[in-house]
Amino acid sequence: MRAAWPHQSRGLDLLRQSISSGHKRPMLASPTGSGKTGLASMIVEGALRKSKRVIFCVPAISLINQTVAAFREQGITEIGVIQAQHPMTDWQQPIQIASVQTLERRPVLPEADIVVIDEAHRWFKFYGRWMAKSGWQNVPFIGLSATPWAKGLGKHYDDLLVVTTTSELIDNGFLAPFRVFAPSHPDLTSVGTVAGDYHEGQLADAMNRPQLVADAVENWLRHGENRPTLCFAVDRAHAKSLQQQFEASGVRAGYVDMNTPIEERDLVGQQLRKGALQVVCNVGVLTTGIDWDVRCIVLCRPTKSEMLFVQIIGRGLRLAEGKLDCLVFDHSDTHERLGFVTDIHHAKLDMGAQRQAQPRPERPKTVECSKCYYLQPSKFPQCLSCGFKPQRQNKVDVEDGELFELGAKHSLKNALSHADEQRWFSSLVWIVKSKNYKPGWAAAKFKDKFGCWPHGLDDTQVQPQQDVLNWVRSTHIRYAKRRAA
Ligand SMILES: [Zn+2]
Repeated sequence: MRAAWPHQSRGLDLLRQSISSGHKRPMLASPTGSGKTGLASMIVEGALRKSKRVIFCVPAISLINQTVAAFREQGITEIGVIQAQHPMTDWQQPIQIASVQTLERRPVLPEADIVVIDEAHRWFKFYGRWMAKSGWQNVPFIGLSATPWAKGLGKHYDDLLVVTTTSELIDNGFLAPFRVFAPSHPDLTSVGTVAGDYHEGQLADAMNRPQLVADAVENWLRHGENRPTLCFAVDRAHAKSLQQQFEASGVRAGYVDMNTPIEERDLVGQQLRKGALQVVCNVGVLTTGIDWDVRCIVLCRPTKSEMLFVQIIGRGLRLAEGKLDCLVFDHSDTHERLGFVTDIHHAKLDMGAQRQAQPRPERPKTVECSKCYYLQPSKFPQCLSCGFKPQRQNKVDVEDGELFELGAKHSLKNALSHADEQRWFSSLVWIVKSKNYKPGWAAAKFKDKFGCWPHGLDDTQVQPQQDVLNWVRSTHIRYAKRRAA
């Protein structure tokens, strides 16, 4: 087993203190990317050293085999599985891995000194019956979750132990930082709320509209830098619409949902890694098995759920070679509602009281740059992404439904090197020659992109990379949309 990370050691210390001070139902909060499985292995290994028996419970049968594999990878082999006809059935082994669905049906449970409940933000009534059974009241049940914020968890667990936070993991280099842009804003006034989140059918109606779908695709082509991208939709029809719009715009787009077989899902992941797919549109594939190198998130799924929101953004924060950050294009106003995921903290478990009694904690306000749609804390006087400084009495013109500031030119220029400007111009010149466009086209497109003419650049030709081609496609879509209007 590899050496523990500092926050994992801290998590183990917190757990020991909690149990020795009499808590029987501690909950460990350990975000995606913090090494939650590694932490689980350390807990299990500690129990093994003291000759204790552990039941490790997962919320779905489909998670059994990957849990076994993860423990084996950490060097833990004394494992049995509780599941009908599973080849690893062996009640003698000190570690028993089981799904809640299987345990619920068994009249007799194997004895254990410790129970670990994985993905413990998902509560099953069976857990309550089990915890209350005679012989089990004094056995520690340890909850593990990246987002243990579900309503009423505080009625079943008695101590929240925050191993680390997303914000700390980014600051310490365990997760990639992210930049958020809010290029379009849906109208959700007609969408009701059910169980704390938007009514899914009404939400799908509000989001699966040609204009919004086209906006998401056009923005990705303009600003997505051809990064491997995961796009989140409301439901399957919405995800399919997005996929079709991407494909119609010349983008290789894949699709997965909860019913996609694991082998097919893995194949899609490999295609995204190799670049055979550029974007994968999905609905609801979050908690299980997607561990891809994603560098851009397109969020078209509005939510009021902090858990869902954090899980979505978390898909883009894993470190990878050559990855500096993750771009987030929020077409759902979720950041406006919930703030940045790095500002979401909970010091206590939810006690399940009335909603009105629990106002959402104050979060730092976010503001959106009116030039580049970058979202940042409101304390800064200018945009940290493009450098734009809002001026009083600036005239604002509405173009394509987007706010467009007149007078001040987009200074994205500052962020790009001379070499990159030359590459773009040379690529545009190459396109002029290969498509037989008018000579002025390259300079006009350059000005569209950079807000200034290509002074001081030479007109050598360079074969365009995908980012330039994507951007040019986005201008075609924009043009077509304008003509249609
Ligand atoms: Zn800006």
